[in-house]
Amino acid sequence: MTADPINPIPKVAPVREAPPAVTAMVQLIRETWHEVEPYTPEISQFFYGMLFTLAPEARDFFPIHMEIQRGKLVRAIVNILQSVDRPDDVAPYLVQLGRDHRKFGVQSHHYEAIGTALLAAVKRQLRDAWTPRVERAWAEAFTIVARSMQEAAEADEYPASWLGTVAEHRRLSWDLALIRVEPEHHIPYRAGQYLSVEVPQRPRLWRYLSPANAPRPDGSLEFHVRAIEGGWVSRSIVSHTQPGDVWRFGAPMGRLDVDRQSGRDVLMIAGGTGLAPLRAILDHLGGWGHNPNVTLFYGGATRDDLYDLEQLRALASTNPWLTVHPVVEHGEGLSGFEQGTLADAVTARGAWPGHDVLVSGSPAMIRATVSRMLVAGTSLDQIRYDPFALD
Ligand SMILES: Cc1cc2nc3c(=O)[nH]c(=O)nc-3n(C[C@H](O)[C@H](O)[C@H](O)COP(=O)(O)OP(=O)(O)OC[C@H]3O[C@@H](n4cnc5c(N)ncnc54)[C@H](O)[C@@H]3O)c2cc1C
Repeated sequence: MTADPINPIPKVAPVREAPPAVTAMVQLIRETWHEVEPYTPEISQFFYGMLFTLAPEARDFFPIHMEIQRGKLVRAIVNILQSVDRPDDVAPYLVQLGRDHRKFGVQSHHYEAIGTALLAAVKRQLRDAWTPRVERAWAEAFTIVARSMQEAAEADEYPASWLGTVAEHRRLSWDLALIRVEPEHHIPYRAGQYLSVEVPQRPRLWRYLSPANAPRPDGSLEFHVRAIEGGWVSRSIVSHTQPGDVWRFGAPMGRLDVDRQSGRDVLMIAGGTGLAPLRAILDHLGGWGHNPNVTLFYGGATRDDLYDLEQLRALASTNPWLTVHPVVEHGEGLSGFEQGTLADAVTARGAWPGHDVLVSGSPAMIRATVSRMLVAGTSLDQIRYDPFALD
């Protein structure tokens, strides 16, 4: 097992080994990016300047105030380029990403412009270290990514995006809201997936949200949204969403799910609103008579963060396959709650052999929990989370 300097979650060897040339290519990208990463703001500024010169209409893909965007896109692309040596992980993600990007109206010449601008921006920062070999590595990795996304976009039979009307907005606490949306047309998502969402109060600031319910006959979706301090979109959703608002959605993404036929039990680990996709999976399982045993650890900083605990307990009381363990970091004297982090609570019980493990929550919580579980002896093959969403 090796620790990846870019992504602090240790990796085991990929299920399908990448050819040595691809491994070498990714290694070169990692090394050169490591050199210039501290200059991400400068790289981003040059990148956008060149992109909007090559393809002025691409400006419409981004928010009006570009400073909100900061280094997000450059970092996201570079993260993916550094992952092309993990074909089993990255290939399905690129298919979903290519479909999702149809919502912008991205055409093939935009991919070319993005690649040209990125390479030029990194080259400018790397100076003499930008050798023909380095250029080939960056260009080939970008081609792999862009081609996979374009092919997926072209093959997609669904609309580029969906509209839905907010039917209900309910404050669950001062910083948390439940929003129910009724889409115009059925969105073909699977329980456990997430969607990119644009709300009218924050045009072009797309954010990911996970429906907290399995697909319903009426197509309606429920979201649990927590207002993040200083957050542009989440605060606006929690404070200003109103019935009648029209939301826009991109294509469903993500790989959290439960294989009911595998014969394996399931361990779910949810931090805060990371519960939403796991709640959707439980909702889906609730429709079946026989299910694997599911143990859910649901954690937060304080008791108030476990906003859905009563409903989960009610679900467990009528579904013997489900056990719920609430965990709080600060809850001295609270009976019925374990104290500590989710990583503490889960690893205190060993390596969870014979279980499929689903982890959902903030990037920091996912990193900490997965790292601790690997140290405790759980195999990475057992664990599922949405790694590319860790920005
Ligand atoms: C796959 C996926 C599914 C998601 N599902 C949900 C969901 O169902 N419900 C939900 O409420 N959110 C969900 N999120 C998070 C959501 O997409 C936004 O990132 C979050 O709402 C913050 O957006 P913002 O515009 O308010 O903050 P931004 O303006 O983007 O960020 C403001 C500041 O807050 C920091 N920040 C961003 N997110 C967090 C966080 N989670 N914890 C602490 N600091 C943070 C940023 O680094 C930045 O410094 C999901 C994210 C992913 C990747």
